[in-house]
Amino acid sequence: MNTRSERIERIINRLLGDVDTYNGNMHKDFSRLYRDYLKPFKKRILLAIFFTSIWSLFPYGAALLTRYQVDEVLMVAGNLDPSLITQQFPLFWNYVFMLFGLWTIFVICNWLKNWLILGVGQKMIYTLREQLHKKLQNLHIGYFERNESGKIVSRVLDDVKLIREWSTNQFLNFSASIFRLFLGLIIIFFINWQLSLVIVISLPLYAWTFKKIRPVIRRINIAIRRLNSEMYALSAERISGVSVVKAFSQEQQERSSFAQKMHNYVRLAMRIILHQQKLSLFAGFITTVISGLIIYLGVLNVKNNTMSFGDMMAFILIMPNLFSQINALMTIMTSIEAVFVVIHRVFTLLDEQESVVPGRISLDGMTGKVHFDDVSFTYPGQENNALKNINFHVEKGQKVALMGPSGSGKTTIFQLICRFYDPQNGSVYMGGVNLIDADPKSVRRHACMVQQEPVILSGTVADNIAYGYLEATPSMIMRAAKQAELHDFIMTMPIKYETEVGRNGISLSGGQKQRLALATALLTEPEILLLDDTTSALDAETEKKIRSTLNNVLKEHTSLIITQRIATARSCDKIIVLEDGNITQVGTHNELKKQDGFYQRIYNQQESI
Ligand code: ADP
Ligand code: MG
Repeated sequence: MNTRSERIERIINRLLGDVDTYNGNMHKDFSRLYRDYLKPFKKRILLAIFFTSIWSLFPYGAALLTRYQVDEVLMVAGNLDPSLITQQFPLFWNYVFMLFGLWTIFVICNWLKNWLILGVGQKMIYTLREQLHKKLQNLHIGYFERNESGKIVSRVLDDVKLIREWSTNQFLNFSASIFRLFLGLIIIFFINWQLSLVIVISLPLYAWTFKKIRPVIRRINIAIRRLNSEMYALSAERISGVSVVKAFSQEQQERSSFAQKMHNYVRLAMRIILHQQKLSLFAGFITTVISGLIIYLGVLNVKNNTMSFGDMMAFILIMPNLFSQINALMTIMTSIEAVFVVIHRVFTLLDEQESVVPGRISLDGMTGKVHFDDVSFTYPGQENNALKNINFHVEKGQKVALMGPSGSGKTTIFQLICRFYDPQNGSVYMGGVNLIDADPKSVRRHACMVQQEPVILSGTVADNIAYGYLEATPSMIMRAAKQAELHDFIMTMPIKYETEVGRNGISLSGGQKQRLALATALLTEPEILLLDDTTSALDAETEKKIRSTLNNVLKEHTSLIITQRIATARSCDKIIVLEDGNITQVGTHNELKKQDGFYQRIYNQQESI
């Protein structure tokens, strides 16, 4: 028994860590929630509160009606003689009709309230999701490396839903409960203040019970939310990495780690139910004792003629209502902190710094010059410099090869040129403009990078090629495909340029993907073309063909080419060798092959084959 509790405690502790505690400012987060997402619907919300208040009156209306029926109608109509019961029947119907009238008003108000608030909730979800989506588009690439995609997805889907539920339904319930509680207290005080005192004294006892069990439930609640986003993360990651999972035959292992999480989820959910039952047991005990006491004192009072029978009926009808309001208030307050954790999490994501602070200067009409001036760069959250004091110039129209061992910082140089990141030290210039001051969109129009492992989007071949330039005509698309040595292959496909590729279509080989990405880049005619090992996945024959077309195409472009092949490097105007984030060699093929160093070693290797 004990070990079971300990096990669950361990699960909770692991899940909580100290990550998911609320570290925001509740007042600030709430005012932001109100200002940005609720204020626009102020009228609707006020109207909903109005209907909620009317709706809240129902139990009291019913109680007071009963009191009236008992004291003013039945008692006055006189000593209800059982033999005259049929004559008294209209009195019964009066009561039923009046109560039903109240009930109808209640139902209508409830419906109106729901209708109003549902609309607000949906609009709120829409706004939040749209903002999050936009944010995700503009975020640092680094953000996605630091945060598992599943967790991000759970922000956009689950968290937003929870926020909606809270800022609409729960918020209304909360105000209704407070309203009901105070109104109820006032009414019973008017009926009989001595008896009311008994109830008032019991309320703190009630609240105390909640206060004891509340934090326990709250902790498990937060743990459950964390587990939930872990499950999201696991499935998203494993789905995107399914080939790795399969390649290492880890399906069994994956299934069981997911099953383990689900198992824990169920355990925690059960635990919450257990505590909730405990809570209702305690609460039920207090309610029963107080009710017994009230009935006892009530009957005494009626007998002594200090209270009417109707008063006592009303009292007994209203009393459970007060308890249930306390119950509702406490439940809402139990999870309010967890909700603020979620709200804060979503706001933090919305406030996440965008990739780079957008500058204003547009690079239009710039020449294709690139200049690195003493650039040092470290990836966010990383310790080691990926680049250290990098200096180099690339003139317009030049072809420059970047070489070096894997991990030496070649791709990082490209990422800085595209301004996916800003360097911590030094500056990158494009055509004389410091990229810090440049509009990132304009930078990416000028410098286009073909990635080592390009992503192919679902759609036709033509769609993919035209992705960066949607207005392209078919003949432009075809020209780009020819330049990338892809045209002949496309013509062998079932419906040529209209063939579906990507997730729902034909799968392409690594080399074909690279050529497709190359065609996409060439179509946009960037002034600076960045090729990240683009020919690495090609056979020697195709590579040679591409190289000769590229030599033609790239005449007017400035190009930087990351390559492992001497054959590609030797035709470049300049070769830069990177090792461990430093530039160790710069020169032409003829210069470097004589120099002792990385280039010569590679040269000797490849020449000897
Ligand atoms: P190359 O392209 O020459 O193989 P990279 O420029 O990709 O090398 O990487 C340079 C260094 O920066 C490596 O140590 C690598 O581990 C690190 N690095 C690359 N990308 C990231 C990233 N997104 N986040 C953190 N570190 C990175
Ligand atoms: Mg690389």
